[in-house]
Amino acid sequence: AAFVRFDDVSLAYDGTGNAIEDINLSIREGEFVAFVGPSGCGKSTFMKLCTGLHAPTQGSVSVDGAPVTGPLKISGMAFQNANLLPWRTTLDNVLLPLEIVEPYRRQFRKRREEFVGWARSLLKTVGLAEHENKYPWQLSGGMQQRASICRALIHQPRLLMLDEPFGALDAFTREELWCVLRDLWEAQRFTVVLVTHDLREAAFLADTVYVMSRRPGRVIERRSIELPRPRA
Ligand code: ADP
Ligand code: ADP
Repeated sequence: AAFVRFDDVSLAYDGTGNAIEDINLSIREGEFVAFVGPSGCGKSTFMKLCTGLHAPTQGSVSVDGAPVTGPLKISGMAFQNANLLPWRTTLDNVLLPLEIVEPYRRQFRKRREEFVGWARSLLKTVGLAEHENKYPWQLSGGMQQRASICRALIHQPRLLMLDEPFGALDAFTREELWCVLRDLWEAQRFTVVLVTHDLREAAFLADTVYVMSRRPGRVIERRSIELPRPRA
């Protein structure tokens, strides 16, 4: 059964023609998919449709069997910039979604110690255990990005949306983080939608790679990747 489903989806921003056009696809629960294509092909638009930040002009988007009508609560997100809050420590940045997203928000005070345990366990997985009390300016770019991935996962989302999450990192750090992400995904099997310019990244990480054309963004190729992949 499809977890994310697009039926004949097109989106036109005001009077500018279709930004994305005739997208039909379904993503299984636990699948790792990547979207690649040139800048402007509609990758961010696709992400916003998945998470309910935009509504399609035509067609329908559903997640977990229900049409997406507003901001999706079961997703976590990470972007090219880690966007950590500078006045919060690593630990407190990772805890942030639990202070915002229900049902955790209303339980936050009572369960804080337990939530801190979740955060520490994630930070340990990504190699930041020793850095939980540091502020963002005390972390390298790669460490900040690790923290932002922990923040995206802390509320145990079923869908992880990643928009060029490693785009700002050097090649060595980027490939290290590929392995970190793969390990998290192999352990927890959330569904991942990754958009990236980097074909190698897509092929290394994803089960299925969708290639988008230039405007209007259409899916011009869908490939399953069946190579055995090395683990970190
Ligand atoms: P990508 O993420 O692949 O770079 P986007 O989804 O951001 O692509 O953009 C797809 C197309 O839609 C581009 O031509 C872009 O300029 C246009 N676009 C994106 N957002 C808007 C908007 N809010 N209003 C008008 N056009 C937009
Ligand atoms: P990226 O390629 O990193 O996704 P973009 O330049 O596509 O960055 O978009 C940055 C922001 O500006 C996005 O929120 C997008 O929706 C918006 N945007 C992009 N193109 C346009 C446009 N032509 N008109 C209005 N907003 C736009």
